Amino acid sequence: MSKTKYIFVTGGVTSSLGKGIISASLGKLLQARGLSVTIQKFDPYINVDPGTLNPYEHGECYVTDDGAETDLDLGHYERFLNIPTSQNNNVTTGKIYYNVIQKERAGEFLGKTVQVIPHITDEIKNNIYKLGDTGKFDIVITEIGGCVGDIESLPFIEAVRQAKLELGPTNCITLHLTLVPYLKTAGELKTKPTQHSVKELLEAGVQPDILVCRSEYHLDADIRKKLALFCNVPVNCVIESIDAESIYDVPILMRKEKLDERVLSRFKMSYKKEPKIDQWKEFLGRLKNPTSEVRIGLVGKYVELKDSYKSIVEAFTHAGANNETKVKLEWIHSEDVQEDNTEKLFGHLDGILVAPGFGERGIEGKISTVQYARENEIPFFGICLGMQMAVIEFARNVLKLKKANSSEMNPKTKHPVINLMEEQKNITDKGGTMRLGAYSCQIKKGSKAYNVYGQSKISERHRHRYEFNSEYLEAYEQAGMIASGINPENNLVEMIELTDHPWFIGTQFHPELKSTVINPHPLFVKFVRAAMNYRSSKS
Ligand code: GLN
Repeated sequence: MSKTKYIFVTGGVTSSLGKGIISASLGKLLQARGLSVTIQKFDPYINVDPGTLNPYEHGECYVTDDGAETDLDLGHYERFLNIPTSQNNNVTTGKIYYNVIQKERAGEFLGKTVQVIPHITDEIKNNIYKLGDTGKFDIVITEIGGCVGDIESLPFIEAVRQAKLELGPTNCITLHLTLVPYLKTAGELKTKPTQHSVKELLEAGVQPDILVCRSEYHLDADIRKKLALFCNVPVNCVIESIDAESIYDVPILMRKEKLDERVLSRFKMSYKKEPKIDQWKEFLGRLKNPTSEVRIGLVGKYVELKDSYKSIVEAFTHAGANNETKVKLEWIHSEDVQEDNTEKLFGHLDGILVAPGFGERGIEGKISTVQYARENEIPFFGICLGMQMAVIEFARNVLKLKKANSSEMNPKTKHPVINLMEEQKNITDKGGTMRLGAYSCQIKKGSKAYNVYGQSKISERHRHRYEFNSEYLEAYEQAGMIASGINPENNLVEMIELTDHPWFIGTQFHPELKSTVINPHPLFVKFVRAAMNYRSSKS
């Protein structure tokens, strides 16, 4: 077995405590000590991946370079650690069972009854060890989705129990994230929910090594002692995780609580040297001390659930910090946009982003949004469906192809300026069949896109079935909308822009998926800068 050390992160009391952020923060601190770290998420639901889930159910679907549709926590892992994840970093119950059933059909278990223990738990452990066995990582952090006690997460917890036994205490630890609520009427922090959730873990045979306690107030020495006593952990392994102003504060807060030292000491690894987190602190300094402000409208149809656009929001945070400006996002529901209220909705904005999406609902609002941004020369950024809407708007209002549409919205449209990709035409299954993952793109010299990237060869991640219909390209280019980014292998149009507009760019890919704290995405950085320039030109 490899020398990799394993950390399991479980959660109790309630969901939404931020296991993803704690995992990413711990990963960051260990990485900042020179260790190579990867983080993996297990999701207990039965979908093979979240690609077939509605954003309202699950938030954004994050896409990796190798084309996996994954949980949005993987976005946090990448943004914090600045290294790409892969399809091995997100595993669902559905995927585990799918693999086991395929093996059963292939005869791998001939003669045996296939059971949750050992077959399902073995498959779970294979997926844990697979990352360690690559030899690339000193530390593998595995986050178990859901709460202990949930029926559906039981096989995962059982796999953790077995892994702890197999790996031994210096190679494997369990960190349990809980809530220590404050009872206003009693004027006290309460430890009982944590005690119960640890009992639940113990019942499944897992003793947590470290408790991370989410709380609105500081945990004093008495509370820490009490938690330690009842939950059977050393008092210095009771870690406070107080509500933070920003998720990016959490690594610093965890450092103050010495979470990284506790982990390393359990692993019998040295923690004498301080982690190198200067660049991170510098980012926080810029984030918290903006010298200006811009207002950017985010037009989409899932705006009720902000997590649907998680990576876009975070990319704006990175770009804002880079420009030392505060990006104030105004969430605009695409169904609220009418032809006659655009001035009221957008007149005060410094930039407009039209978001990705699927299906017909809200698209006419998106098209009116594009028209307003184009005609009023407001910086405009269209991502995936947002770019497709910019293409349709231009067809209808500039090329005068009144009925132009995407064949996604109207399969019989007279002018399918956005059309189903050739390779998609015979696909009937919905799961994992879009054009997914990283593809290279050639940027046209002298274009706005080239100015943004400063290079001609880029690679970005995709998630779509429809594309710009190249039969119309000549007409577009003659009228001032050019293809500034092209896939060199198949000539698909990946970026469009307007030549006579200060900043109007559409991307068929999702640049937001590659923005990190250390490497903010240039398209977001330059879009925010264009919004800053637009704002100062108005005053
Ligand atoms: N619905 C569009 C397509 O499939 C755009 C997808 C997206 O915005 N991610 O091509």
